[in-house]
Amino acid sequence: MANLTKQHIPLVDLKAQYQQIKDKVNDAIERVLENTSFIMGKEVAEFEKMFAEYCGAVHCVGVSSGTAALQLALIACGVGYGDEVITSPHTFIATAEAISFCGAVPVFVDIDPRTYNIDPTLIERAITDRTKAIIPVHLYGQPADMDPIISIANQYGLAVIEDAAQAHGAIYKGQPIGTIGDVGCFSFYPGKNLGAYGDGGAIVTNDSKIAQKIAALRNHGRLPGNKYLHDMVGYGERLDSLQAAILKVKLEYLTIWIEQRREKAAYYSRMLADCIVETPYCPGSIEHAYHLYVLRVPNRDRILQELREQGIGAGIHYPIPVHLQPAYQYLNQKCGAYPISEQAADQILSLPIFPELTQAQQDRVIDTLIYALDEHA
Ligand SMILES: *Cc1c(COP(=O)(O)O)cnc(C)c1O
Repeated sequence: MANLTKQHIPLVDLKAQYQQIKDKVNDAIERVLENTSFIMGKEVAEFEKMFAEYCGAVHCVGVSSGTAALQLALIACGVGYGDEVITSPHTFIATAEAISFCGAVPVFVDIDPRTYNIDPTLIERAITDRTKAIIPVHLYGQPADMDPIISIANQYGLAVIEDAAQAHGAIYKGQPIGTIGDVGCFSFYPGKNLGAYGDGGAIVTNDSKIAQKIAALRNHGRLPGNKYLHDMVGYGERLDSLQAAILKVKLEYLTIWIEQRREKAAYYSRMLADCIVETPYCPGSIEHAYHLYVLRVPNRDRILQELREQGIGAGIHYPIPVHLQPAYQYLNQKCGAYPISEQAADQILSLPIFPELTQAQQDRVIDTLIYALDEHA
């Protein structure tokens, strides 16, 4: 490997992005500092309007994180103590935590091995008389198969809350994700497709009752326009104005950035087509937003080690399914309970992907991976 320079290629490069938009971001921050309206106010309202439009939604409510978005969406849909909520074990733990925050119990359903998203054909047998909602996760930016999920939810009277934390810009059968279910939850964690410079999140919905309820819940149960009247016991989970001002700047670029992610992903898939790896499955009916570019590879741990030794910031999303996390030991779910998820956790590998990734960087990732596969697979 002597011919390849060991320049580090990160999984995501936020510095490269900041350099591109620095002046606009700095102006936006200064504007907020000058008018000192740090909580709610104009910036948040303007961002909410813009993001609703971007998602083709009637309402958007900014909140303090993607986790808060999920938690408040569940509460607004009536999920409470002792209820059950169906979701995937192959996700970031926050999906399950939000269910736990409501006093409800996460009930896991295994995934489709091609898409890594909840397998709709397994949902029905997990429904009990305590089931209140389903949270499909659009993992990696790949839309979950929403049509059968919505039809089961309608049949059993369940709410559908989309965990869209990784999927800004993804499209399912011509429709932007987020408003296919009752409510869509987004994260603006810095590394997400649309990232703030701190924590942030939002919900989108076409249901004005859900939007109003979440708008009150995020702000200590206040109804808009009355500071001293608390209609319900709420939370302090507002989006702050600095983050909203930064997000407004970055939202202008999001369409281009997602397009660039798709181009990088297509290039990887083309260049790796003849390797012993499984590239992302992407049927024509969906438009993947490639928050992550995830392969299945043989001898994954050894390949990952080799990539890291060569300075490639590869990752695993996620190495331990949620049902096997110590935090969820109380559910008593044994190894083998969700075999497709467990197998995926052992085989998946995320390659660096971000809009600013250069062709030279991508070629080095590809060459290093091919070398690692030849040596170790
Ligand atoms: C990031 C993420 C969350 C949580 O978002 P935060 O903003 O970090 O709270 C929830 N679900 C998934 C799938 C995520 O990737």
